[in-house]
Amino acid sequence: MKIITRFAPSPTGYLHIGNIRTALYSWLFARKNKGKFILRIENTDFKRSKKIFINNIIETLQWLNIDWDEGPYLQSKRINRYNNIINQMLNNNKAYKCFCSKKKLEKNKKKQIMNGEKIKYNGNCRNITSLNDKKLPYTIRLRIPKNKCITFTDTIRGEIKFNNAELDDFIIQRSDGIPTYNFCVVIDDWDMKITNIIRGEEHINNTPKQIHIINAIGANIPVYTHVSIITDKLGKKISKRDNNFNILKYKENGYLSITLLNYILRLGWSYGNKEIFSQEEMKKLFNLKNLNKSSSIFDINKLNWLNKYYLNKLSKEDMILFLKDISITKNININNGPKLKDLYKIFYKRCNSINEINNLFCIFYKNPDYKNNILIKNYLNIKTKIILEILEKKLININIWSSENISNVLKKTIFIFNISFKKIAMILRIAITGLENSPPINDIIYLMGKKKIIYHIKNAINFIKLNT
Ligand code: GLU
Repeated sequence: MKIITRFAPSPTGYLHIGNIRTALYSWLFARKNKGKFILRIENTDFKRSKKIFINNIIETLQWLNIDWDEGPYLQSKRINRYNNIINQMLNNNKAYKCFCSKKKLEKNKKKQIMNGEKIKYNGNCRNITSLNDKKLPYTIRLRIPKNKCITFTDTIRGEIKFNNAELDDFIIQRSDGIPTYNFCVVIDDWDMKITNIIRGEEHINNTPKQIHIINAIGANIPVYTHVSIITDKLGKKISKRDNNFNILKYKENGYLSITLLNYILRLGWSYGNKEIFSQEEMKKLFNLKNLNKSSSIFDINKLNWLNKYYLNKLSKEDMILFLKDISITKNININNGPKLKDLYKIFYKRCNSINEINNLFCIFYKNPDYKNNILIKNYLNIKTKIILEILEKKLININIWSSENISNVLKKTIFIFNISFKKIAMILRIAITGLENSPPINDIIYLMGKKKIIYHIKNAINFIKLNT
């Protein structure tokens, strides 16, 4: 049998790490088994579903290189299909119309609370047919068989059993004629011939309801895999409402898509001690049996470690493209400084986060902001002014702008003033970048070019004149 999986997000928020994990596992399972992977958008909650979130789903999957074979199917376009089946179910008595008003249902609920009973529909309309032709508002409920159990096998958790006494005849079509979430999921999975459902554990409680619908329409029961939750450091479940976990935010913040894929893959699945997987390896090695039963904790340090690993593995061309992208998101004009093809090497090893990348960009493409540095007076003062003036003269006089000639200028200046290299490097670093940390000063001077270096040193001298 051909394996068919699907990713079925509701577009009610930005995709987070947990959503993408189920997408990744479903996709890998399909790819590993030479099966099919379908993208379906579950947007029947018309109030909360938004176009921007649909776009976010597509953009996120594309960025992560998770490709789908069919779709995106939109549930909102399939309402007629769902309602046709509901009508058939009414005809063959698998479902019935419920005319109970909100008030009546509320009264029933209150009574059950008072009696300490489980809150559920009391089956009032289960056997009433006399109202069926009247023009009264109604919902449609599934007629679930009494005194039975629903048992299903979850790949991670084994056998899970639900007693029907726990369930009521739940609504499958609301009074506005729109079918409910559990119903649409089942019909879609049936029509799309889904063999394996991989989704978050929050859906375990929906599963017996869905199996009741499956039984009512005579469909096959798919294989269920409910993956455990992901929490933040404090043990709180991560949610779509928390924009910190929005995957595309990671893109904006300088994380590579392969970093995210690797991190998410291992967050709930293991393959011995192996940490690093190419996308091809993932497709070859993924299986359901190594999925963890326990919840996973999101660890930003591990994500950063992985990002550093992958940044350092980028080819020259990819590093340049990556830096170009970052300069666009961070609004940095890279025409105003060294060419990326001369600069890219400096980004290797030094960067694992966007802040570090951004700091490096600022060094090369923005003017130093002396006022922001509280230690500035220690380095730009009347004593260091003379050193900067000599450096300016000597650097101007360099004919061939090479590392060697720059190094000679620094050595001569050290000799004249009898100070350490460390000290002179710090004065220059502050004058040129405004920062106490930077790549080696010789590299910066060389890469920035003569014109810019002289410009910065002049500005530093003027700063001293104005502030002493
Ligand atoms: N639409 C559901 C969600 O976003 C997923 C339903 C399913 O996978 O069965 O949580």
